[in-house]
Amino acid sequence: MIKRKLKIVRRTNNIPVMGACDVCNMQFHAHYPLSGQSEAQAAIQQQFNAHKCEAAHKEAEPAAAQAADKK
Ligand SMILES: [Zn+2]
Repeated sequence: MIKRKLKIVRRTNNIPVMGACDVCNMQFHAHYPLSGQSEAQAAIQQQFNAHKCEAAHKEAEPAAAQAADKK
């Protein structure tokens, strides 16, 4: 299973406003108005946690097929 990671791709006044998944490149935006750095970070992190990685699923399938082939 691929470990996905959240990266912050854009900051405004040191507040994270946009993050992206480094596996499937899906983007997450903090909601306005932002009351602070931690709240913006939490909003992005929450969307990241909720999303499903398409890339990760695609990558998992061939490996499973190979394992089944060997049997
Ligand atoms: Zn992803």
